[in-house]
Amino acid sequence: MTALPPPSAKKLGLVIDLDTCVGCQACVTACKGWNDQGYGAPLSDMDAYGSAPCGTFLNRVHSYEVQPEAAAPQIINFPRSCLHCDNAPCVTVCPTGASYKRAEDGIVLVNESACIGCGLCAWACPYGARELDAEAGVMKKCTLCVDRIYNDNLAEEDRVPACVRTCPTGARHFGDLGDPESAVSRLVAERGGYDLMPEMETKPVNKYLPPRKKGAVEASPLAPLLDVQATGFAGWLDRLLEKF
Ligand code: SF4
Ligand code: SF4
Ligand code: SF4
Repeated sequence: MTALPPPSAKKLGLVIDLDTCVGCQACVTACKGWNDQGYGAPLSDMDAYGSAPCGTFLNRVHSYEVQPEAAAPQIINFPRSCLHCDNAPCVTVCPTGASYKRAEDGIVLVNESACIGCGLCAWACPYGARELDAEAGVMKKCTLCVDRIYNDNLAEEDRVPACVRTCPTGARHFGDLGDPESAVSRLVAERGGYDLMPEMETKPVNKYLPPRKKGAVEASPLAPLLDVQATGFAGWLDRLLEKF
């Protein structure tokens, strides 16, 4: 068991806009590209051009079709990476102390040299935000691009996470969510940003901005066929959309 530090005043994190994300996967590619060559061991790619390619990613984007009541079905693109939780079960469950949360800025990291690849943290994370790298044998997760955001060798405009720098629709924002006056905190307040699955009580630092319902229209003729309670992230997004 690893103890968590007291909640830091500075809470660096991402704000992701589900209304403007178009699911283009540019952030996934930028994340993989940057993190393949810097912090920690490279991210594996196995059978990359074969029939069963698989590999390690720190950020994935899933697309779901949801069916709000009395509205047309719509696609929601849902980027998923570590949310740098204040109450991080992945940290407390780690038997070696390899997983830790930084007191100074709240970033959750893995010390790869202390990781024994047991996978407990991935099991404890309710968001599926950690991936065990099969080649390196160590746990991988979003580092919040800690090797970019404090990197004086980069131009100032590049001292943001690779995914934020790359997103063509400006759907990803980076900043200090512990400062109520920061641009990201103001954005969350203005747009009604929310925690992902708050019932898990992980207190995520990252926030999501809600998608808009695409106008009330006649219910789709397919609605009865879709009238099945979706589960997991899809079900959660379904219920969320009903609120906006
Ligand atoms: S780059 Fe931006 S628009 Fe494209 S999938 Fe990622 S968050 Fe969505
Ligand atoms: S999202 Fe998962 S991996 Fe990231 S801090 Fe929270 S529990 Fe840990
Ligand atoms: S902050 Fe960096 S490591 Fe995290 S998802 Fe974005 S590009 Fe990947």
